[in-house]
Amino acid sequence: MYPFMYYFDPTYILVIIGAIICAIASARVHITYSRYDRVHNRRGVTAEQVADMILRSAGIMDVRIMRVNGNLTDNYNPSNRTLNLSDAVMGKTSVAAIGVAAHECGHAIQDQQNYGPLRLRAISVPLANIGSYLSWPILILGVILGSPKLANIGIIVFLFVIAFELITLPVEFNASHRALKILSESQILERDEVKKARSVLAAAAMTYVAALFSAFLQLFRMILIAGSADRDD
Ligand SMILES: [Zn+2]
Repeated sequence: MYPFMYYFDPTYILVIIGAIICAIASARVHITYSRYDRVHNRRGVTAEQVADMILRSAGIMDVRIMRVNGNLTDNYNPSNRTLNLSDAVMGKTSVAAIGVAAHECGHAIQDQQNYGPLRLRAISVPLANIGSYLSWPILILGVILGSPKLANIGIIVFLFVIAFELITLPVEFNASHRALKILSESQILERDEVKKARSVLAAAAMTYVAALFSAFLQLFRMILIAGSADRDD
């Protein structure tokens, strides 16, 4: 009816909601991390000393602990067997830094024990990449050509992204669970310190839940757009 209606896509609100939820989750991680980055562990050990202790006691001798640039860019890389600790974590004695380092050790232990969801996630990475690159172009092409079939293929391709986000959840929750169990059983951290490390890891886990939720919103948006293409036929 009005010209602007052709230019304003109301389903874009779903993208905005997804982005806001992800931003809140990410802000919570940084707030929680900086709160417990001020609490130093009573044993006075550094994050990389803890990582080294955990890896050795799990019998993992061939994983190197490295420093990686950035803030909370910590990761475990199974392809070159490195445990990468960020500037915010390396050399730090805070319970927050120790929680993050132990979490990455959790991934190294998953790798050592051939943890199924970790393997599945590694397999799903290339498919998820294809999904995130091709789903929208295929969907839009389907809408332009007035082919609901093609538009639906775009949606199906996007399901690889959803599958990846889904399989990430058990991998992340399990790594944190292992980390906190080891930290408390080995008495690296005391009970109240474990509780603080748990808060940091719980906030970090919520970013993966937010990412999954925002992927579902995007899927819903794609279904709406594909459906409107159908009606225009
Ligand atoms: Zn992780």
